[in-house]
Amino acid sequence: MARIVRKKPFIRKRPCQFCLSKSPVTYVDYKNEEVLSKLVNLQGKILSSRITGTCAKHQRAVSLAIKRARFVAILPYLGTVKREKKVQEVKEEAKKVESVQSTNN
Ligand SMILES: [Zn+2]
Repeated sequence: MARIVRKKPFIRKRPCQFCLSKSPVTYVDYKNEEVLSKLVNLQGKILSSRITGTCAKHQRAVSLAIKRARFVAILPYLGTVKREKKVQEVKEEAKKVESVQSTNN
């Protein structure tokens, strides 16, 4: 009987976001909350390179940066990570501020 050989499904490897940039990143800044908050899940855990596509070299730099960011209270050790405000919320806040300013004058 012929053996059935199943093909492995083709999964494209995600490119490393730090290697892709024009000037290759050698140091991941711990103060850059915008980048780091995308590399942790909502519970504040560091996402694996398998999920984010970060290469081994940059994953090491990222984990160090996240740990530093936690120490200086930029990122939480646990609990929900703040995500950027939605555009609508920001607009509503701007409207509120405008209305307060108009009532004061
Ligand atoms: Zn890389």
